[in-house]
Amino acid sequence: MTTRTETTSAGTDRRIVGAGGIRPDGTPILTISVCPRCTRRWFPQRQICAACAHDELDHVEAGRGGIAYASTVVRIGAPGFATPYVLSYVDVDGVRVLTHTDPADPSKPEALTPGTRVTFTVGPIGTTGEVELWSYRVRAADAPGIDR
Ligand SMILES: [Zn+2]
Repeated sequence: MTTRTETTSAGTDRRIVGAGGIRPDGTPILTISVCPRCTRRWFPQRQICAACAHDELDHVEAGRGGIAYASTVVRIGAPGFATPYVLSYVDVDGVRVLTHTDPADPSKPEALTPGTRVTFTVGPIGTTGEVELWSYRVRAADAPGIDR
């Protein structure tokens, strides 16, 4: 996976992390590795199967929607991550992905209810101080879009 920093129209630097890119419709490209020998699936993408050590994995793009498995509001975060924010584990195409989550009401972040259908988006997750870090995120599938 390559990491690329780009300058936004607002003049700030932005780096996409964790995703393989952004589709023209604004959704992220998430690549899942699939082992043809034991059928295990992995995200993030890997070159060797951690279950059977097979080293010729197939790589497929995940779908745009998933189901929340668990979710929490983070109130004490790592440097570079403004709190509070919502993290969720989301099941998509046979893998469980940890992802930042757009709350329905950003002024009052709440965890997603397990089983909530979500849609993958792309948006800011933190900063290095000089560069804004963007990555894949999710929002409830029935929630209104949030412009970022
Ligand atoms: Zn395997």
